Amino acid sequence: MRVLITGCAGFIGSHLAERFLKEGHEVIGMDNLITGDISNIEHLFGRDGFTFIKYDVTNYVHVPGKLDAILHFASPASPKDYQQLPIQTLKVGSLGTHKTLGLAKEKKAIFLLASTSEVYGDPLVHPQKEDYWGNVNPIGPRGVYDEAKRFAEALTMAYHRYHGIEVRIARIFNTFGERMRIDDGRAIPNFITQALKGEDLTVYGDGTQTRSFCYISDMVEGIYKLLFSDLNQPVNLGNPVEMSLNEMANLIIKLTNSKGKIKYLPLPEDDPKIRQPDITLAKEKLGWEPKVKIEDGLIRTIEYFKMKLRK
Ligand code: UDP
Repeated sequence: MRVLITGCAGFIGSHLAERFLKEGHEVIGMDNLITGDISNIEHLFGRDGFTFIKYDVTNYVHVPGKLDAILHFASPASPKDYQQLPIQTLKVGSLGTHKTLGLAKEKKAIFLLASTSEVYGDPLVHPQKEDYWGNVNPIGPRGVYDEAKRFAEALTMAYHRYHGIEVRIARIFNTFGERMRIDDGRAIPNFITQALKGEDLTVYGDGTQTRSFCYISDMVEGIYKLLFSDLNQPVNLGNPVEMSLNEMANLIIKLTNSKGKIKYLPLPEDDPKIRQPDITLAKEKLGWEPKVKIEDGLIRTIEYFKMKLRK
């Protein structure tokens, strides 16, 4: 296959590019590098079948030649990033999705949208199943991301229904691993960096809010399987092992042998109190479920951050 990956220099995008190349596909990576980092894909340059185009997909996008699949992963994705880049986030979710869907229609390519558990907002149903419509504040600080992705899902389904294009919608829950940006403001990069420096770990709120963290190799496997399925509907991808942020902070303190303690800071506005994917659909239709234990994933991620901090 000849595959276009937008957001190719990002955390998930770069791992996907690697996976598709490994399976013998040709990859065209696109990124405007506002939150992506070229060092994530530097090792792919010069490799057979890999091309990189620095481009902002909110503009008309043209790719010469055939395309079999488009994976639309371009977007700021951490709360800190999308609050610093609110307009870009809204534009890439709306205009960027429109442009890449237009390209998919033109090339008769399968379109896979990177959506998010944020479409469920601060959920009133637990765990979250694909048929839950969510509890989102459109005008809150997270609204720029949540509503952009909700619009992106609506547009993707409209292209499927009206133009008959093949679409896949991955609702990606919290994912972690190598190549997360050290300064993206998320819990795991913050905690690991603080723990390795012997500083206190900044837990927001009282730390009883929960998340379910999936290691990157499991996520990539889920996305790969979803692309090759026939599911023209949203599918949750994530690890159902749910834990509080207090538990995560303590686990990272233990794994890094850190002298750091927990320091409590105010909870950001609209921060979801609970989050856990119901992955029954992915299990039944894709034969997929996460395999990597959180501790094992964290150990690898900690090694990566150690290396980054030495640089
Ligand atoms: N969080 C925290 N300390 C940090 C960064 C984040 O306690 O230094 C909390 C955040 O308030 C949220 C959870 O960790 O409750 C997960 O945050 P993250 O930014 O990783 O992603 P989210 O799931 O909120 O999109």
